[in-house]
Amino acid sequence: MQFTLAEEHQLIQQTARRIAQDVIAPRAAAVDATAQYPEDYFRAFRDAGLLGITLPREVGGADAGTLALSLAVEEVAKYDCSAGLMLLLSSLSTHTIKFFGTEDQRRDFIGPIARGEKKGAFCLTEPDAGSDVAALRTRAVRDGDDYVISGQKCYISAGPIADQLVVFAKTEGENPRSLSAFVVDADMPGFEVTSVDRKMGVRGVPTGVLSFDEVRVPRSRLVGEAEGLGMRGPLTTLNSLRPVVGARGVGLAEGALTYALDYARERRAFGGPLTELQAIQMKLADMAIEIEAARLLVYQGSWMVDQPDFGPSKAHYLSIAKAYATEMANRVASEAIQILGAQGYMMDHPLERHYRDARQLMIVEGTSEIQRVIISRALIDRNLVYP
Ligand SMILES: Cc1cc2nc3c(=O)[nH]c(=O)nc-3n(C[C@H](O)[C@H](O)[C@H](O)COP(=O)(O)OP(=O)(O)OC[C@H]3O[C@@H](n4cnc5c(N)ncnc54)[C@H](O)[C@@H]3O)c2cc1C
Repeated sequence: MQFTLAEEHQLIQQTARRIAQDVIAPRAAAVDATAQYPEDYFRAFRDAGLLGITLPREVGGADAGTLALSLAVEEVAKYDCSAGLMLLLSSLSTHTIKFFGTEDQRRDFIGPIARGEKKGAFCLTEPDAGSDVAALRTRAVRDGDDYVISGQKCYISAGPIADQLVVFAKTEGENPRSLSAFVVDADMPGFEVTSVDRKMGVRGVPTGVLSFDEVRVPRSRLVGEAEGLGMRGPLTTLNSLRPVVGARGVGLAEGALTYALDYARERRAFGGPLTELQAIQMKLADMAIEIEAARLLVYQGSWMVDQPDFGPSKAHYLSIAKAYATEMANRVASEAIQILGAQGYMMDHPLERHYRDARQLMIVEGTSEIQRVIISRALIDRNLVYP
């Protein structure tokens, strides 16, 4: 067992930390207040080569793996959870193509995202199909050498600003096995951003409702050689990034703890700084215990994806990392507010933003309940045993 980071990992961590401190920290509050997509973050990520961390080198990525992505996400999420999502999204919007696409598709559709020439989105959720992915209704009908896609997607992160979308649709009636993925460009006729959501947190990355009204795409945009990726299409993609969602939680919690600790050193009560009060000391220690536990789970999950060793018989480890780290972030953000007292509730400090942002993490890319469905199934099926 090796707990020391490789030189390449340390380099990516330092690069992300520099961007986090120089570019993100001064802007995070304004990005939240205005809900404007931070193009300056995107440019900084692109110029440092951070957008293609998990993407193949042949097409302009760094091929540095999921642990490297988690490390970078952790750094930037200390100041702004939206920034962590931005880094994650270039992988989420391309991993279906990375795992199942043809060589041409990897070159044509991953390359521009890896190099930061385009922004991508991952379009799975629909108004009547969230956790129940098999219920999705978007259809892709074969017409000669084309497919014609019709349906609606909702809550799509970066959907309103994306240039390229991976869209999941069924090719045969209700049959979930006919689930396939298509690459759609935002300027294709029939595609429309119907509305942009008003949401409580992660306001730097817009989400919205997207409609596909007979969008015609050539067959070359069907991901892979044939129809019918089935559930493994979205699930492999989501599994590969569950630890990275956890990394957003770990970074957020580290940022919240650091802020609360700095405040507690300065704020005086009962004749001394808050840090002299045992109740505050216990809170700080509990926060650190939880962060360290989550960090190890996230790093372990990321490492498993990189082996790669994250098939269905191992997916529960990724779910454990995602569920624990994201729920931990909510607890730590809440306790950090408590340490500041009334000040913690004020918008003059970043903690109320961390608290709002953390709430998103327990819902996206599989809710906490769905992670528990996966974990309990592993126990019942004896994939997770403690002999
Ligand atoms: C800010 C934000 C960004 C998002 N970004 C994207 C994106 O980029 N792409 C995308 O495709 N989607 C995205 N989503 C959608 C997200 O993945 C879904 O919201 C999520 O999967 C849950 O689906 P749902 O909201 O329809 O809830 P539902 O599936 O309706 O679930 C409602 C409640 O029931 C629980 N539940 C459902 N089924 C079970 C079960 N079997 N056992 C126990 N409990 C269950 C859920 O956990 C939840 O608490 C985003 C959502 C948000 C809020």
